[in-house]
Amino acid sequence: MDLTLMGGNVLTMDSRNSRAEALAVRDGKIVAVGSNPEIARLVGEETRVVHLYGRTLIPGFIDSHNHFSINTLEPAAVDCSVPPHDTVNGIKDCIAAAAKDIPSGRWLRGWGLRTAAIRDGRGITRWELDEAVPDNPVCIMDGSVHACYANSAALTLAGVDRNTPDPSHGRILRDDFGEPNGTLWEGAMDLVYNLSLRAYMDYYGDDSAGLVRQNALRHVSLGITSVGDALVVPDAAELYALADRLGRIPMTLHQMLGAEGFFAPPRRVASGVSGHGNVSDRLRGGTMKLFMDPVFPASAYTRCLAHGETEEVGEIYYSQEEADSLVSDAHGRGMQVAIHCLGNRSLDRALEAFEKAVKKHGAPTAPFRVEHFTIASPEQIRRAKSLGVVAVVQPGFHFTGAERYKSRADELEGDARPIAIRTMLDEGLTVAGSSDYPCGPLDPLVGIYAAVTRRTRQESGAVTPEEAVTVTEALRMYTMNAAHAMSRDAEAGSLELGKRADMVVLSHDPTTVNPDFIRDINVEQTYVDGQLLYSR
Ligand SMILES: [Zn+2]
Repeated sequence: MDLTLMGGNVLTMDSRNSRAEALAVRDGKIVAVGSNPEIARLVGEETRVVHLYGRTLIPGFIDSHNHFSINTLEPAAVDCSVPPHDTVNGIKDCIAAAAKDIPSGRWLRGWGLRTAAIRDGRGITRWELDEAVPDNPVCIMDGSVHACYANSAALTLAGVDRNTPDPSHGRILRDDFGEPNGTLWEGAMDLVYNLSLRAYMDYYGDDSAGLVRQNALRHVSLGITSVGDALVVPDAAELYALADRLGRIPMTLHQMLGAEGFFAPPRRVASGVSGHGNVSDRLRGGTMKLFMDPVFPASAYTRCLAHGETEEVGEIYYSQEEADSLVSDAHGRGMQVAIHCLGNRSLDRALEAFEKAVKKHGAPTAPFRVEHFTIASPEQIRRAKSLGVVAVVQPGFHFTGAERYKSRADELEGDARPIAIRTMLDEGLTVAGSSDYPCGPLDPLVGIYAAVTRRTRQESGAVTPEEAVTVTEALRMYTMNAAHAMSRDAEAGSLELGKRADMVVLSHDPTTVNPDFIRDINVEQTYVDGQLLYSR
C-alpha cells in the first residue's frame, strides 16, 4: 500500500453519505475505505501512514465553473479589486505604480474592478487611465468578467474609435460626443481582451505555464482538486496545452470551449472545427459554452412592477432558431452543452433548445448544464429536471452581492426566487456548486457557508433564507454533483473504491460545527491522485 490515512472522520459522500475512519491508496486510487483495524491490516513496510487525529477527510472540492484562464494572469496583473479599493483615484494610483516598472508599449492588465461598488458612483474612464498610464495599453477586467476598461492606447490597438459600431452581444460605451469612453461591455470586451491575453502569453513564453501551475496550487491550497474553466478562448486553450506539455497542470482542468472572443457565438465549436479539447488525462474538454444573456446592462428576466404589472428586462443573445442550431449541432457531435442563463427569460430559451436537441439526437451522455440558473420559477426547475439538466450555481454571489440579490428577490414574480437551491433540490434537480471566481469568492467553504446560512459578507441578514440547504447537501454540491456536471461521476467526487484519491483534510467537520463558523474551518492537507500537494 502506498498511503493510508488513519484515525479520521471520513465523509465519503457516497450515495448513502457513509462515514468511515480510515482509507488506503495505491497507485493514486482509493483501494480500501473502512475502520481503523481494517485499514491497519493493509499497512506494509513501504506504506506512508498519515494520522488524522480525528480530523475530517472529504473528497477534493470540484469547482465546476471558474475562470481559471483569466485568474492565471492575476500575479502578473494589477489588483484593482473593489473592495478593498473603493475610489477611481485609488485604482488610478495603483495602475500608475505598476506601469512605472515596465517598458512603454507593453500591455498592462488589471482585474477585479467593480464599477457599481466604487464610491464615485461611476466607472473609470479611458482619459483617467491615460493620465495614470499614457504609454502602455491597459485592459482592466471587471470583477464580473463581463466588461473591461481600456485606455486610449489599448483602444487604438484594438481599432476602436468613434466610428466603430457596437459589436453583436456587446456595447462600446461613449461620452456625450460619441467618443468611446473606455468601458467595453460584453462582446465589446472581446476586442481588447484577446489582444492583452495574447500579449501576455507572448511575453511570458514558456514561463506562462508556470503561472498555470502556480494558479492550480493556489486552488489546491483551498482544497480544490479539479476545476472547470467556464470559457476557454483559443489562446487560453493554447496556454493550457503548453502547460500540459510541460507537466505544469497538477489537477484536472476541464475546458469549456467558446468562440474566438469571450462572448462571440461558438459556431466553430458547435460545428466541430475547433475540436473537442480533450488533450490528456489532466487537460479535458468536450464541452461547448455559450452565453444566453448579459450582465450589462441587465440579464434577461421578468421584473414585477407595482400594481402587478410585469416588464421584460434585458436582451436574450440568441433567437430561438440560433440557439437551437448551436445546441443541436454540438449535442449531435457528442459535445456537452453548457449555457449561461442569469434570467428566467434566457432560461426558457435554453431549455427549449435542449428539448429540441434531445428530440433530434436523443438524450445526452454528458448532462446539459445551465450556468448560474439565477432566476427560475419552480415550473422551470421541473422542466430542467425532466431534461436531466445540472444547475451550476454560485452561492458565493449572494454572499458578496447581498443588496443586489435582496432587491432582486423583491421584484420577482410569484414563486420565483434568486438562486433557489432548496427548491431545486426538492424538485430533484442536480445542483453543482462553483465559485465563478473572480466573479464570486474562490473558497469553497465560503460557498458552502453561504448555501447553508444564506448570509452575506456585510452581515446584512440572510437572502431568501427559505432557500437554505443542509451542510451535507452543500458538500455534495461541491463534490459529487460537481463531478456529475463534468461527467466525472465514475472517477471523482466521492471517496469510494477505484476512484482517484483526490482528498482534503479539514480541521473540523462542517456538518457538526456551528454553521456560522464553516468558513473558519481550515484546509490542512490536499491530495491529488494520492499525492500530497498542500499542507498547512
Ligand atoms: Zn462565469
